[in-house]
Amino acid sequence: MGAKISRCLRSKQEEYEQLTSLIVSKQSSPGGEGQRTLLVFINPHSGKGRSLETFAHLVAPKLDSNLIRYEVVVTTGPNHARDVLIAKENLGMFNGILILSGDGLVFEALNGILSRVDAFNILSNLPIGIIPSGSGNGLLCSVLAKHGVDLSEKSVMNKSIEIATSPTVNAERVALYSVKTETERYAAFLSVGWGLMADIDIESEKWRKLGKHRFDIMGFIRSCNLRSYRGRLTYRPYKARGYNPEADVFNVYDKTTQERIDEESLQRPTPKTWTLHDSEDVTSSDPQEEEEEVIIEDNFINMYAVTLSHIGANHRFAPSAQLEDNRIHLSFILWRDIRTRVDVAKYLLAIEQGKHLDLPFVKNVEVSSMKLEVLSEGSYVVLDGEVIETKSIEVSSTRNNFRVFSST
Ligand code: ADP
Ligand code: MG
Repeated sequence: MGAKISRCLRSKQEEYEQLTSLIVSKQSSPGGEGQRTLLVFINPHSGKGRSLETFAHLVAPKLDSNLIRYEVVVTTGPNHARDVLIAKENLGMFNGILILSGDGLVFEALNGILSRVDAFNILSNLPIGIIPSGSGNGLLCSVLAKHGVDLSEKSVMNKSIEIATSPTVNAERVALYSVKTETERYAAFLSVGWGLMADIDIESEKWRKLGKHRFDIMGFIRSCNLRSYRGRLTYRPYKARGYNPEADVFNVYDKTTQERIDEESLQRPTPKTWTLHDSEDVTSSDPQEEEEEVIIEDNFINMYAVTLSHIGANHRFAPSAQLEDNRIHLSFILWRDIRTRVDVAKYLLAIEQGKHLDLPFVKNVEVSSMKLEVLSEGSYVVLDGEVIETKSIEVSSTRNNFRVFSST
């Protein structure tokens, strides 16, 4: 049995190595002037573990035939993509980044870019494309849903390949949020979860080969085996302040990132040197103009805040959320508001139909900032699908955004 498993692991490893060397041997030398060029990150372990095959057989041939060059990084573990993006000197020569993984690698890439001194020049001028190889692709599904694409697995894959390999692809703005934990600061774009849904996400990691079905199975187990979590949730309801980001798009291959940055600097002589966290303050300096802060200390079943419409193909969590809009859609369930475990199962099923917000025990509010303090042991705080070690997390709207490949 042991020998069989080790043979199987060895052949999987050999397959990875063969595909990696095939991809690396075919990758193009960096583009010269007027060349279309992408920087590609492939996480061979994301989702069902097929991203190398997807790139080699479905993506690379189309990039080749459309004369789009690429430099490939096959990630070897957590923080590899982040470290490459922090250190890379010639980022400006690329037209975009292409990620074959889930939301987790997009989060890592963004936070890598944000650790650079030229972060804010790069961020809005180096768009990110995604091929759905992870088990959670909330960002991609939110973008495709906006353009009316059917979110079946096959259609998401086909459409994302069509978009990512097209010379006429457009990039669109997606709002960024500022996050502060006990020890770290991050930029985030998708979700903060704690309680039921965070447990389902993290405890089902061991079944990642099942793809999105892992969430359904763990959801069933968790609702039979319900937990409550003590916490303090503080939030400030959203107040519109005439902030209407332009829903503008640009063609990814019209200019390189450096050409866009140079053009911007001609139009705006003061360079963007501020950081995400200097500009997080979207609230008014006059407290009279603000909504009152709300504080709830109680036993929670679930707390999930999202900034995009979809957290997965079958999870249209905040139907009214817009890509570039900067409000946070906070929803939570208190232990004392549910009658039986059946209510919780109903909630999980209703998410798939986008009807969960209609359930009477689910509280929803649009906020511009929120803070969660965890007052009990043994729970996960999950940020954009990744576990964060902290007992306190604050999320605030910003006026910053990044760009994502969206349509052709
Ligand atoms: P998934 O949906 O499969 O979880 P994500 O992109 O959300 O995919 O998350 C992938 C995580 O795996 C990221 O945190 C990333 O840093 C990490 N990672 C990247 N490359 C590897 C690798 N070769 N082995 C293990 N983990 C990796
Ligand atoms: Mg993930």
